[in-house]
Amino acid sequence: MPLLGPAYFKFSPPNMKFKKTLQQQGLYIINFSLPAGRACPGADKCWAMAAVDANGKVTLKKGVDNEYICYAAKGEVVYSNTRRARANNKALIDGLSIHEIVDLMLLSLEFNYKSLIKKAKLFRWHVAGDFYLPKYRDAVFIMTQELPNLIHYAYTKNLPLFKDVKKPDNFRLNASWGGRFDHMINSKDFPRSARVVKDQAEADKLGLPVDVNDSLAFGEIDQNFALIDH
Ligand code: SF4
Repeated sequence: MPLLGPAYFKFSPPNMKFKKTLQQQGLYIINFSLPAGRACPGADKCWAMAAVDANGKVTLKKGVDNEYICYAAKGEVVYSNTRRARANNKALIDGLSIHEIVDLMLLSLEFNYKSLIKKAKLFRWHVAGDFYLPKYRDAVFIMTQELPNLIHYAYTKNLPLFKDVKKPDNFRLNASWGGRFDHMINSKDFPRSARVVKDQAEADKLGLPVDVNDSLAFGEIDQNFALIDH
């Protein structure tokens, strides 16, 4: 009988949207994701998830206040491997302690993503999902110290997890508007924020620069910016 190996965390290379522009700048991103909706306690206007019924049929379930498309949830409806990889990541985190999460992440990177982590300059936490538990936030903070040469960045709507919490120097957190905790966004607690707009004209009206390839999200400057919904 073959021995069963440990379950590993799944990471992924950058998606096509970022790949070209960032690689031209000598930048390479490694991503980690969690299930859209299921790991998004702060989501409101974007909340959606891929729901699987008893017959295995997958459909998109949206929250009552949903106003924006959650592309991550849509992707999980179409791509079962992506959905399973994200579910696997969350199931592992749920069952592990902070240090076990860190150990398994490092082991997973070492075993399965050696070349990816070698060339990466950036680490994006959550193309899908969010910081959904304090122990997971703390594990990510430790990961930023374990991988100190990378700039780590994330968007979050789960703002209570970060209020008055000291963040690592190489971790850039962008508060994301459209969540349950928008009232907590202010320049002192969350000096970086991202707002989804429908087009350039709306961004101009708000006086916000538009981020087209995450460079404002991971950039050095603390600032508010817009993301065009398309
Ligand atoms: S926070 Fe992101 S992944 Fe979660 S529901 Fe909203 S758009 Fe989707």
